Amino acid sequence: MRSNLWLDHLWMPFTSHNEMLDYPPLVIERGSGIYLYGDDGKQYIDAIGSWWVSAFGHCNPQINDAVKKQLDKLEHVLMAGFISDTTAELTSLLGEVLPPQLKRIFYSDNGSTSVEVALKIALQYHAVRGDDERSEFVALGGGYHGDTLGAVSVGGIPSFHTLFQERFKKAHFTDSPYCFRCPSGKDPQNCSAECMDSLHNVLNEHGSRIAGCIFEPMVQGAIGMRIYPPKVLHRIFALCKKHKIITIADEVAVGFGRTGEMFACDHAGLVPDIMCLAKCLTGGYLPLAVTAVKEEIYDEFKGGPFSNRTLNHGHTFTGNPLASAAAVATLKLLIQDKYPKSAESVMQYFAKGLSSLDNHKNISGVRHLGFAGAFEIVKNKETKEPFPKETQVPFKISQIALQKGLIIRPLGNTVYYMPPFNIKIEELDQIFSLTKETIEEVFNEHTSS
Ligand SMILES: *Cc1c(COP(=O)(O)O)cnc(C)c1O
Repeated sequence: MRSNLWLDHLWMPFTSHNEMLDYPPLVIERGSGIYLYGDDGKQYIDAIGSWWVSAFGHCNPQINDAVKKQLDKLEHVLMAGFISDTTAELTSLLGEVLPPQLKRIFYSDNGSTSVEVALKIALQYHAVRGDDERSEFVALGGGYHGDTLGAVSVGGIPSFHTLFQERFKKAHFTDSPYCFRCPSGKDPQNCSAECMDSLHNVLNEHGSRIAGCIFEPMVQGAIGMRIYPPKVLHRIFALCKKHKIITIADEVAVGFGRTGEMFACDHAGLVPDIMCLAKCLTGGYLPLAVTAVKEEIYDEFKGGPFSNRTLNHGHTFTGNPLASAAAVATLKLLIQDKYPKSAESVMQYFAKGLSSLDNHKNISGVRHLGFAGAFEIVKNKETKEPFPKETQVPFKISQIALQKGLIIRPLGNTVYYMPPFNIKIEELDQIFSLTKETIEEVFNEHTSS
């Protein structure tokens, strides 16, 4: 038996102390494809891709191989004055995969840092052009951009962000494009993106002081997989253009095929000025992130060492060769197997499986885009009224599912799935049948008690 001493030392992210003690973390020993194996000897389906990163499953043979080979070549080299051959290869590959306008690639370590870099680039861009007034940001309500302070300052989830914003720096916020509970009472099929009237208003009042607008394109992830139509993006881009504001698309969660297009902005046929990428970049293996920037923005950063045009930013492990090797292998899998297009029929199967959950009286707001799918737990389907927080229904669902060997971690009242791109039909069947069993069990108990 392993010792439990580690529990006396551990501080878990996003987890209250009591929860950590009452529900100690499951110890995972190994993984394969969609499965994880605990030290309890049980098999679990990872339906959420270990926080949305597992692009080709756990211990994918090709990616494993690439990382092992790199390990015997070079583990790390600093990235100023030097670059590993693998990171150089990755940079060329990214140049092929990214929209051609997003030509410059700046590396950092994770999604939050890719956002920090984007925010700093936006500020410095305006500063070197002599527009010092542009020092503020606008972000979408309900948005999530990471947990470092700069990223938190543009975050729109009160329970995560408010305390720190009040003590640090607060951006301007719009309404959330939350179609299931539309802030303007419209239907996404025939709305005119009225949710972005709020952006129109913010920019009319503060536009000349705003450096950049940051948003999660198509899917607001952490708030609860809020999927919105491309017309919202069209409106964001048009308004930002009018006010000369840099568009920052945070594709950390949705980039590299998650939504059925290589990048979520592709759904609208738009290319942002800056794009942030992380999660699936290394296939979920190692931390690495990219901030990709249009050349016309980079032009303002061209100059000598004594100009004010250098971006003085970098992380110790920037462009780490092992992470780069995982990313090269991941991108090669994407290119060689023509993802996400080659997964279209499986994505449709995924969508059908999700829709089949919709006839339950406590499930509503079923939505999907590519391999991102979600539904909401409601007490009353007509009024969309949720269960009171104290009932902890979503938490019960995740616990019962775990007992059945299915890993899902609801976000608020939203249950979601983020399967790997190479998931099989039979595996999706397993996921949805375990979900149905779980829901039945939770709500039978709930209505009888
Ligand atoms: C996860 C996430 C981040 C933060 O990434 P980390 O690697 O956790 O720092 C930023 N933006 C979005 C949209 C995310 O989903």
